Amino acid sequence: MMSDIANGGCLCGAVRFEVAGPPLWVAHCHCHSCRRSTGAPVTTFVGFRYSNFTFNTGSSGVYESSPGVWRRFCTTCGTPLSYEADRYDDEIHIYISTLDHPEDYPAQSHVFYGERISWFDVHDSAPRFVATARERNIVAHGPVDE
Ligand SMILES: [Zn+2]
Ligand SMILES: [Zn+2]
Repeated sequence: MMSDIANGGCLCGAVRFEVAGPPLWVAHCHCHSCRRSTGAPVTTFVGFRYSNFTFNTGSSGVYESSPGVWRRFCTTCGTPLSYEADRYDDEIHIYISTLDHPEDYPAQSHVFYGERISWFDVHDSAPRFVATARERNIVAHGPVDE
């Protein structure tokens, strides 16, 4: 059961944040930049309204990973925290495992599926998008069997 306020933070606990309101979407991102930024084969994001987001403690660093794209991280332990982009007005995308209760936000889709590591597969029925759901360029519903 989702509450109206979600709390989260980094590995060392220095950075804590809270965000209000329902998530906009939840997606696995397979893009090269997210994978390199986290060192993980896939990352999962929850989108929220930026205006509902607040850092409570700690200091976050920010890195412009592409023009107009901003990735925040804890300056003490290095945990990746969020993704913001000039083109996504009033949105902040939180790396799902920084939330205290990621189980409350089941993933709905796979984005940048064409950039995935070739051996990476998840057997779910979520749609796979070449880029994002906004472009509606779906690849397949669920895993490709053949
Ligand atoms: Zn930290
Ligand atoms: Zn990505």
